[in-house]
Amino acid sequence: MSEHHVIVGDGIAGATCAVTIRKNSDDARITVITNEEEPLYNRVKIKDFAKGKTEEQKVMMHDLDFYEKSDIELMLGTTVVKVEDERKVVVLENGSELKYDKLCYAAGGTPRRLGLQGGDAEGIHTFWKLSDARRIREHAQQSKSGVAIGAGLLGIDIAVVFALNDVDTKYVMRGNRWWREGLSKAGSEIVERGLADLGVECVFFETPKRFLTEGGKVAGLETESGKVIDCDIAGVAVGLNFNLAPVQDSNIKTGEGILTDSYLRTSVPDVWAAGDITQYFDVIQDRINMNGSWVSAKAQGEAAGLNMAGIETEFRHVDTYNINHFPFMVGSVGSIYGDQDAERKYSETEYRRLLFKQGRLNGAVLIGNIAIQAQLKKIIEAKVECYHLAEKLLEPKWKAEDVLEELGATEKAQTA
Ligand SMILES: Cc1cc2nc3c(=O)[nH]c(=O)nc-3n(C[C@H](O)[C@H](O)[C@H](O)COP(=O)(O)OP(=O)(O)OC[C@H]3O[C@@H](n4cnc5c(N)ncnc54)[C@H](O)[C@@H]3O)c2cc1C
Repeated sequence: MSEHHVIVGDGIAGATCAVTIRKNSDDARITVITNEEEPLYNRVKIKDFAKGKTEEQKVMMHDLDFYEKSDIELMLGTTVVKVEDERKVVVLENGSELKYDKLCYAAGGTPRRLGLQGGDAEGIHTFWKLSDARRIREHAQQSKSGVAIGAGLLGIDIAVVFALNDVDTKYVMRGNRWWREGLSKAGSEIVERGLADLGVECVFFETPKRFLTEGGKVAGLETESGKVIDCDIAGVAVGLNFNLAPVQDSNIKTGEGILTDSYLRTSVPDVWAAGDITQYFDVIQDRINMNGSWVSAKAQGEAAGLNMAGIETEFRHVDTYNINHFPFMVGSVGSIYGDQDAERKYSETEYRRLLFKQGRLNGAVLIGNIAIQAQLKKIIEAKVECYHLAEKLLEPKWKAEDVLEELGATEKAQTA
């Protein structure tokens, strides 16, 4: 009898896992379960939809026909409440059970809310699902003033979405700059100018204290310093809680997410994890790591799918993340953490920051022309000590092959 592969989550990780199993196994029975109402859509592009720049159908990736033709059973609007690994079943919200032979848990995360007074008022949005994007777009179109909170990669999306819907937008940050883990003030200033050109005003050194409300709706934000910013729409992006509740009573080991080895195997036989929720052993960075990006989730879905289909595949990945709100790109490659860094500002729209760990290139943040991302990725993958070449790596253009040759590391790079 054919094996039953069950996948929790129809985001890019879960959907890619299902498609990969099908490509490698004609007779596997595959079931994908999602608590969303739509089949796979492009989560990255929901910001373009919310901005009013694209229509909903352009965001969709799979239609129901796709699943039928691929012989993948899709259960929409269905929540998995429990994984019982000893009995190899997933329990659904309505109490029914689904038996699996192999399971991929790709349930992603849910945006955290700010636990502040007034934080549940109508008009305070988090941004993760297409349904959120619909609500935000509709509300922003009717709003005059907005507050965005969260000085990171998702907070900036909310601020820009508000501004492009002609909302007078204040972007509140606790520190002196945007994305303080990734950028120095010099780098942030480029982004700040880009935001100002789109109509977003950055407000620094302000910590949200409480939301002001009128008739249950958001009316403003008061900060710890006593500043009051009026608004009729607000958006909060302060990180994700990973959707671990269904596995909490199982033998699947968890940390912040689901713990796996570099093959995305969990602590329980026949159970894999993929996507944002996965806390995996990263063989490039030699540490336990988590990524929150589209390319990583897709690559993990593929690796998990191959492993589930019996094709042993290690997940080796240097992550990338790019933002295209401005006339210049903002991007990262690898990790934004290190014990040493080096940076250069080339012009009013060009900047590069390199992060090194124990002498090796660990990652970089780039603003402007980010074509060098591909070369940096090769150096990161090579896992070679190169901090002494930081100035060279800050040169506008170079080829990874030349740098690796200079380091005498070409052979090592090929075998790493
Ligand atoms: C607005 C926005 C902009 C972004 N921009 C970028 C970008 O520019 N670049 C980039 O690389 N990344 C970006 N990302 C992040 C990227 O989209 C995610 O990293 C990626 O989509 C994660 O995919 P995933 O499949 O792991 O998880 P998800 O896409 O979160 O999918 C998990 C799915 O599982 C479902 N689920 C959860 N629990 C259950 C349950 N118990 N039962 C059934 N179903 C369940 C969820 O509803 C969800 O559909 C952005 C994200 C957002 C929201």
